Amino acid sequence: MNRREFIRNSAMALAVSPFVSIAGCGRKTVTDFAIVGSGPAGIALADKLAQAGKQVVVLEGGLRQQSEALQAMHEVEPGQWGLSYNFGWATQRMLGGTTNLWQSHSPRPHDIELMSASQRGYGVDWPITPAQLRPWLASAEAWLRIRPADPANNPDLPLNPYIESSAALRAFLQPHYQTLEAGAYGMFKRSGMDALRLLKHGEIDRVAALKTVAIHPGTTVRRILMDGRRARGLECVDQQGKALTVEAGAIIVCGGGIQTPRLLWNSAAEGIGNHSDWLGAGFMDHPGLRLYGHRDKPLLPAGAAESHLHVRDMLFNKAHHGLGGTLLRIGLIPGPEGSEYTLIESLFEQAPEHSNRIVRGASKDALGDPLPKMHYRLSDLDKATIALGQRLQRTLAEQLGGIDSASPFRHSSHHLCGATRMAKDPADGVVNTDLQVWGTDNLYIAGSSVFPTSTTVPPTLILTALAQRLADHLINNPA
Ligand SMILES: Cc1cc2nc3c(=O)[nH]c(=O)nc-3n(C[C@H](O)[C@H](O)[C@H](O)COP(=O)(O)OP(=O)(O)OC[C@H]3O[C@@H](n4cnc5c(N)ncnc54)[C@H](O)[C@@H]3O)c2cc1C
Repeated sequence: MNRREFIRNSAMALAVSPFVSIAGCGRKTVTDFAIVGSGPAGIALADKLAQAGKQVVVLEGGLRQQSEALQAMHEVEPGQWGLSYNFGWATQRMLGGTTNLWQSHSPRPHDIELMSASQRGYGVDWPITPAQLRPWLASAEAWLRIRPADPANNPDLPLNPYIESSAALRAFLQPHYQTLEAGAYGMFKRSGMDALRLLKHGEIDRVAALKTVAIHPGTTVRRILMDGRRARGLECVDQQGKALTVEAGAIIVCGGGIQTPRLLWNSAAEGIGNHSDWLGAGFMDHPGLRLYGHRDKPLLPAGAAESHLHVRDMLFNKAHHGLGGTLLRIGLIPGPEGSEYTLIESLFEQAPEHSNRIVRGASKDALGDPLPKMHYRLSDLDKATIALGQRLQRTLAEQLGGIDSASPFRHSSHHLCGATRMAKDPADGVVNTDLQVWGTDNLYIAGSSVFPTSTTVPPTLILTALAQRLADHLINNPA
């Protein structure tokens, strides 16, 4: 698709967008904070900053509805090992970002996962401590409407029904496993579990209605404009193909796990934040697979809906140290005539390898800007983690009644982490512990691209917690 077709197709989509009245049509806008992206990272930040009275402009490349033309802006070029998966599809170019697709399965990490090198001899330690993160995990659970696995973590939130419904499963597995926790899922529906969709459930409209916020949908940020250490503004193009410059006191890039490093690469010949050759490097995901089975004697109480429980024993067993962890999610689902289906899903923690890297590609998007290229493969350490994790997964499935079928192994769970990693020392990463790009005065990143290790849990709770922590930092430390 060429530039003219892109603008025509996306302008047609904009014609039915209720945000057309606030869409960017001026040539220049000046604000306190400019945020790139309206996913959970961008909207959680905008919400907090605006509640504190700050002027915020959110630039979002997507619209209210999916559009092939816009989604094509997220294509990823295969690197030297090919592409094991359509990574471009794993990030949605839409208002509300990838929450338009997510499942809202977001348990907390165990403390030990953030201390992986010192406690488990694996990867690197996070440069912020579990205690520093904990208050924001609680506020992110409330914001994302996640029912925590342990009610003591967040007593104000409604009780997670999996805690009660999995009692018989717990009792059954207790003799064999050390860590048995309820699944932590969204709670949008009054009964049962449902994912919070920022767009569908009105969160985008709520934040857009705050006095000091302007959300510009259909506006693509092409470049971050730097003046020495200072991020001066953003060069954008709106839906009609008109240039728009946004000048801001601070800029926060929340474009998701692939588009964020891409924007940094496209903004300067050597990229921004690539002082130590870490820009785009250390990319991680969660490989995994599912085993399906059934039980003739159900463990669920009569009339119960499905139930989910997690096992993360691999993190705590000293014999497994030096390898990544595995989260084993056990689902029990009522079947016909009193039977029960079992589902055991694994998420394998992946090592932050420098060679797994997002770089600038040779092909271009409809605006003529380079698409990202991804070099990605499983390392030997990843293969060892997966081999052991799969053995534990099979044992668990057999204890529960056997395996009827297995899904194909998947390289991605759409959990895109690590390509602008956080580090204590500029030699080891792209952002510091305040998520500020090293070597800049006012450029920040929020999203799972800042994770130094992927942890075993899906990323959205942690990345939202980090975005809220960043908002508090920006409010308490005005430039
Ligand atoms: C099928 C699926 C299921 C998932 N299930 C789970 C789950 O159960 N639990 C979990 O924790 N996570 C899950 N995830 C991952 C989760 O959706 C992401 O972690 C989360 O949405 C990332 O939030 P974000 O704000 O960083 O990025 P995103 O939600 O991807 O938002 C980024 C936004 O930035 C915009 N953008 C990017 N670049 C530009 C630019 N240059 N100019 C303007 N706008 C730009 C994009 O259009 C997008 O709207 C799932 C993902 C998928 C695809």
